[in-house]
Amino acid sequence: TPADPAKAAAIRELSREHVFVSWSAQAKVDPLPLAGGLGARFWDYEGNSYLDFTSQLVNVNIGYQHPRLVAAVQEAAGRLMTVGPNFANEGRAEAARLISERAPERMRKVFFTNGGAEAVENAIRMARAHTGRHKVLASYRSYHGATSGALSLTGEARRWGTEPGLPGIVHFWGPYLYRSTFHATTPEEESERALAHLRQTVLAENPQNVAAIILEPVVGTNGILVPPPGYLEGVRALCDEFGIMFIADEVMAGFGRTGKWFAFSRWGVRPDLITFAKGVNSGYVPLGGVVISDEVGASFEETPYVGGLTYSGHALATASAAAAITIMEDEGIVDNAEQLGSDVIGPALAELADKHAAIGEVRGLGVFWAVELVADRQTREPLGAEKVAAVVQACKERGMWPSPVSNRLHLVPPCVMTAEEAREGIAALDEALSAAL
Ligand code: PLP
Repeated sequence: TPADPAKAAAIRELSREHVFVSWSAQAKVDPLPLAGGLGARFWDYEGNSYLDFTSQLVNVNIGYQHPRLVAAVQEAAGRLMTVGPNFANEGRAEAARLISERAPERMRKVFFTNGGAEAVENAIRMARAHTGRHKVLASYRSYHGATSGALSLTGEARRWGTEPGLPGIVHFWGPYLYRSTFHATTPEEESERALAHLRQTVLAENPQNVAAIILEPVVGTNGILVPPPGYLEGVRALCDEFGIMFIADEVMAGFGRTGKWFAFSRWGVRPDLITFAKGVNSGYVPLGGVVISDEVGASFEETPYVGGLTYSGHALATASAAAAITIMEDEGIVDNAEQLGSDVIGPALAELADKHAAIGEVRGLGVFWAVELVADRQTREPLGAEKVAAVVQACKERGMWPSPVSNRLHLVPPCVMTAEEAREGIAALDEALSAAL
């Protein structure tokens, strides 16, 4: 795209005038106009290009303008743009099959939504209807979406502004060894104590009233927290003991982000309900949904499910998902994410951590990484906001676009990033840390 600063200025001006931006004080926000993207890079109108370590909102797993996916969307648009859920549709049926084939056995049905928050809303509604119970337990270190129920489930501070939210939601602490709530010093201890705490929470709430426990198998926005050994298995066992539904929120972790189709599969657990969105079609068209176990599904065989959406299983969205999954499979894109994590990003970040005192911890897997920046390695005091902003700015000046979340940099590139691009991006981060701190 040729540089066109006048166009950038015009887009900025119009946006400032008319676009109300998510999560922002409107007077203080001024997003960069994007001109284009390809693979793991995007560029602006000023002639700057960036290696993308954000995947937008951690969703462009297949990368920008994947030619086969663009062609599939164009082809689907030419066939039939829209079909309501009151008719069956080929792309929808095909997408549901491809998604359920990647889930554990006996999870054969998919309910489609427009995005992640609606998936979460419907998953908890299904769990409540199936169990006849009303309470739902969710982790404090979680983000589940911005509709009323999903934001009530969300553990972090973004929930506060909308309280009191949906009744019957109880929060618990999940594992996070680096800043352990449980004074644990090993992953095993953290896992055991987090499970004991969750069990106490369930007992204190009356297990007979608990419909579901919802969690992100690898926590995303709240820190990229990979669960310690035994934790997810323990949550599954606790749910089994008390007849509680285990909802795995795979909206961010799913469809390649962790180097697997679903993150929970690394630990061999089978959830009762899976929520997905984002990576299912890399956001080329809005789509989310719930994968439903046969047991939960049985509750709605003779009794109608109370819920629906005009765009449930939208023709273009589901056709794009079917194509995206097929392309990811054909081109080994999920395996690329896995290898990039284990062979390139993980080792390169470990080297950075040895070199820079401001790095307290690096953690992650696949294309799902966090660099925890600290003011002091001993006390683990988070690095101040101004310094984090200086590092981010220095990264951008070097053509690398990270995703800052409080004192952390999340490095979450598209699954299609090459080893060379990953090395180039992390070298830019290395220089940025030296220059800014
Ligand atoms: N659940 C998780 C784990 C998420 O990360 C997100 C979005 O970031 C959501 C749900 C909400 O998805 P959406 O923004 O598509 O509604």
